[in-house]
Amino acid sequence: MTRVLVVEDEPQLVRALEINLRAREYEVESASDGGTGLRLAAARAPDVVLLDLGLPDMDGINVIKALRHSSRVPILVVSARQSSDERITALDAGADDYITKPFDMSELVARLRAAARRAERAVRGVRGVPVGGTSIVSTDEFTVDLLAKRARRHGQDVRLTPTEWQLLEVLIRHRGRLVGQRQLLHEVWGTSYDRQTNHLRVYMAQLRRKLEADPSHPRYLITSPGMGYRFEI
Ligand code: CA
Repeated sequence: MTRVLVVEDEPQLVRALEINLRAREYEVESASDGGTGLRLAAARAPDVVLLDLGLPDMDGINVIKALRHSSRVPILVVSARQSSDERITALDAGADDYITKPFDMSELVARLRAAARRAERAVRGVRGVPVGGTSIVSTDEFTVDLLAKRARRHGQDVRLTPTEWQLLEVLIRHRGRLVGQRQLLHEVWGTSYDRQTNHLRVYMAQLRRKLEADPSHPRYLITSPGMGYRFEI
């Protein structure tokens, strides 16, 4: 059973989420403020976190940051804040996805399922080794072992979230070739994602910060403006 932690202060919404998610066989725990959410997350390691940003005790962005200190759990932000700056701030802090209120319950469940699947794939590596290649990719800057799910840079482990892994893995599997924005969104986030190019921009920036010597002049993680991205080696 997938365990979902809902951090949300609107009782009616919490109730609706509990009913809908339990009906789909999710195990649900709820917290009505950020502090309780963090305590529950630490105590019982949920599989996915649904997080509101406007909480009574702290900003949800700080909940994301606190969670990311110790956990790679997928975080799906569910917020009334609609501006793209807010989305980018949340993704940048470590959220995996963002859905605005009011939302359609089946859309939310689809995204929740996609987030849980990404986390599972990142752990199990069911995609396996790239065809005809080794599982290890080495550059002057960093080494990525796709099977061991390990990235190292100058001898130090680099911590990547499940979503960052998925994105890096897709690019490495297609190394040297342009991967279109839509294909990347489909492969990493799911087939209901077509236009969320902000997700790609934010996650590519994070990967570059973690892996490139000069993130503003990337050598390996290359953007083709308006088209997509490629891993150059
Ligand atoms: Ca709220």
